[in-house]
Amino acid sequence: MFAVEDASGFTGQADEILSPRTPDEATQILSRANRERLPVTISGAGTGVTGGRVPSRGILLSLDRFKRLDIERGRAFAGAGISLNDLQAACLPTRQFYAPDPTEWTATVGGSIATNASGSRSFRYGSTRKYVLALTVALMDGSLRTFRRGEALDFEVPALPIPNTTKCTAGYPLRPGMDWVDLFIGSEGTLGVVLEAELALLPAPEDLMSGVVFFETDAEALDAVDQWRSIPSLRMLEYFDRRSLNLLRTKYSEVPSRAGAALLIEDEGSDVDAWLERIPQDDSWFALSDQDRERFRRFRHALPEMVNETMHRRRFLKLGSDFAVPLEKNREMLAFYHEQLGAMDYVIFGHIGDAHVHVNILPESADQFERGMDVMTVFARHAVELGGTVSAEHGLGKRKAAFLAIQYKPAEIEAMKDVKRRLDPNWLLGQGNLFPDGS
Ligand SMILES: Cc1cc2nc3c(=O)[nH]c(=O)nc-3n(C[C@H](O)[C@H](O)[C@H](O)COP(=O)(O)OP(=O)(O)OC[C@H]3O[C@@H](n4cnc5c(N)ncnc54)[C@H](O)[C@@H]3O)c2cc1C
Repeated sequence: MFAVEDASGFTGQADEILSPRTPDEATQILSRANRERLPVTISGAGTGVTGGRVPSRGILLSLDRFKRLDIERGRAFAGAGISLNDLQAACLPTRQFYAPDPTEWTATVGGSIATNASGSRSFRYGSTRKYVLALTVALMDGSLRTFRRGEALDFEVPALPIPNTTKCTAGYPLRPGMDWVDLFIGSEGTLGVVLEAELALLPAPEDLMSGVVFFETDAEALDAVDQWRSIPSLRMLEYFDRRSLNLLRTKYSEVPSRAGAALLIEDEGSDVDAWLERIPQDDSWFALSDQDRERFRRFRHALPEMVNETMHRRRFLKLGSDFAVPLEKNREMLAFYHEQLGAMDYVIFGHIGDAHVHVNILPESADQFERGMDVMTVFARHAVELGGTVSAEHGLGKRKAAFLAIQYKPAEIEAMKDVKRRLDPNWLLGQGNLFPDGS
């Protein structure tokens, strides 16, 4: 038995860990698993936070040997095991970049496709889905298929409701005429094994300015979000609440003491003066150099890392939300969070430009953890009532699989299960992900 964990602290075990070197080896593993009825769980880098790559038994299939990486003008060919860090680094000398940025750069191409990851730049660029041109996938019947964009499913699916949000990765986004590429993106390792992807690259912007803008109050920060959202060159609009800043201050003492909220911005323009006019105080941080921008990126990324470390230290699983709501419901949802969380220990931060913030509850006792779990379910219901989604970018994996039934009706989930049965009739791939009650 091999112990397996993900970044949320969720643990499980595998009977075997297999790392195929070639597509043939991968399909042979799947054929054997199908014959012997062995569950197969696919693993990327394990940075997922929903238990998706964590099996309870069977084969853990690692893609870490799928390392092809070829960069051309406008596109990259990347093996599933390539990290986003290596992908971005290879793009750099060609003055191009890969737009999806789930901030955790050790995540793999395969894992980010399987979760339809998005992150901080999605405000301007959207989720991974927009940047996948073709996929090579190994299927449970032992076949190997390459699907290009536009190649439609060869079976009927119904139209499922789409939330009124800028991003969503909860279940399969079924609609008549959809293509295979869209089916596999965000399917969380339940339909096939992504071996390789052709990805769209964009020209790197000539100018890029970044800043961390501090506000005394939350209300001022939220006003700025509403005003700045329409700035066409803005590509990042990230939020930190007062509690997030307090946590960050334990590592970054330079955070101004007056600050009660902050926004991290990246603007593909270079008009610093326009920003100085927008911002009344002079203790905000601005940068035009790559080095300083990297400093701000680390500052932003330090927060979820510190949350994860805190939970690890307190010996609890990560208790983080991933709900998004329609943009016009942003304030209402935030107010609801605060009202429900009351005196709990928590931080709120993240992709406020997409009305998609992460509430992370930091319990100190088992009772508080249970209460936190209950509150997350209350939030999920409220997000859906407001026209939102139960998962904007992390997926549901095993830990949040019960939320699927909050967003979709039983018949809609049954339609997803029909697709799953068609591609994996013995229900072996990614068991427990998305569908907690199995087949
Ligand atoms: C500090 C921190 C910050 C984060 N911030 C963000 C963020 O801003 N935005 C965001 O979107 N995510 C974020 N994440 C979550 C995580 O990085 C993403 O979900 C990422 O896409 C997971 O990639 P991975 O390679 O680690 O996949 P894993 O965790 O290994 O797997 C994730 C899922 O994908 C499936 N899978 C993996 N590889 C394949 C494959 N080749 N074929 C089919 N299925 C596969 C697995 O079975 C599992 O269900 C963050 C995580 C951490 C730790």
